[in-house]
Amino acid sequence: MAGIYFHFPFCRQACHYCNFHFSTQLKHQDEMLLGFEKEIELRVEHWNSALESIYFGGGSPSLLSITSIEKLINVVYKNFKLCDSIEITLEVNPDDVSFEYLEALSSIGINRLSIGIQSFLNSELKLMNRIHNADQGIKTIEWTAQLFDNFSVDLIYGIPSSDLSNWKKNLNQALSFDVPHLSIYALTVEPQTVLAHQVKNKKIQLLEEDLVKSQYDWMVNRMEAEGFQNYEFSNFSKPGFISVNNSNYWKGKAYMGVGPAAHSFDGKRTRSWNLSNNIKYLDFIQHGILPTQSEILNTNDAFNEYLMTRLRTSWGVSIQKINDTFGKHYSDYLEKQVENHLINQRVYWDGDALKVTKKAKFLTDGIASDLFLLKS
Ligand code: SF4
Repeated sequence: MAGIYFHFPFCRQACHYCNFHFSTQLKHQDEMLLGFEKEIELRVEHWNSALESIYFGGGSPSLLSITSIEKLINVVYKNFKLCDSIEITLEVNPDDVSFEYLEALSSIGINRLSIGIQSFLNSELKLMNRIHNADQGIKTIEWTAQLFDNFSVDLIYGIPSSDLSNWKKNLNQALSFDVPHLSIYALTVEPQTVLAHQVKNKKIQLLEEDLVKSQYDWMVNRMEAEGFQNYEFSNFSKPGFISVNNSNYWKGKAYMGVGPAAHSFDGKRTRSWNLSNNIKYLDFIQHGILPTQSEILNTNDAFNEYLMTRLRTSWGVSIQKINDTFGKHYSDYLEKQVENHLINQRVYWDGDALKVTKKAKFLTDGIASDLFLLKS
């Protein structure tokens, strides 16, 4: 069981914090769609698994016309085996859509939307250089709630100039729409972004870590009280609405990434990634060559990656799985290395699974790094 991910690398405007691969030159969109079809043709013979999910991400796939999305879905249907209840998600930006567009998405088989809201405050949207405003965000959620049972809203906390009180307003506003799934990320400063430049030049001051932590801790409690499962560090779902696409990444299942900068994984040890350049990507594809590099993870890297991804999830790190996949040396190592964190109640054993305690959740990545095996 596996998924396919399309990376549509175009956006109308660059958000100041974003380091994803995209271009604001909107030409070449039609060639890109032909490139996607060709890439699938080049890859499909090496692919055996039935698909559980199709995900249109980017970039801004809501720039695509309904006809183009339908055509891509049909290409997938023609080339792959599919599971009975396949999840088909499209990321939408509020500035791209209308009620009619969303209605048409539903009619061609898109059954889940992921809406890039980020904030309901115009001052924060402006600071991040989001192209939409709060009213457009609200309208998009209202339309989506009328048309789709399954949808997700993206929010960002830790925004410079925010405090606990306006973060509470933001999250409470999202919850007022009876949203079944939220992905909630801390604003991070990625290299070579406008935000990194602004921070370096002291035009923007980042929030103190303590304030970001208090926003996160408040959110985790609030979401729990609302009946959400915090199934991954940044992802919250009402019962029955865990994202198949997202959880497959964390469960180590195979996925195929199509488009510039898209990553793929064979479900075992091989990762690959496409060139992050639209023109070069198209040039390779048009010559019948996959613009792909790959690496095979060694055992330590695979072990560390399993720790990092699974410690962030509610399923935790299975000691049995470590024993079976990597060997006794690794499970013995983990049991010893984790002792200090157990004593300090940062982690606990839930049967066979090692999980992070609620009070230490904010520290999850640091705990995982501390458990990494750097040499055998
Ligand atoms: S719309 Fe999304 S992909 Fe495009 S620049 Fe903004 S955050 Fe990045």
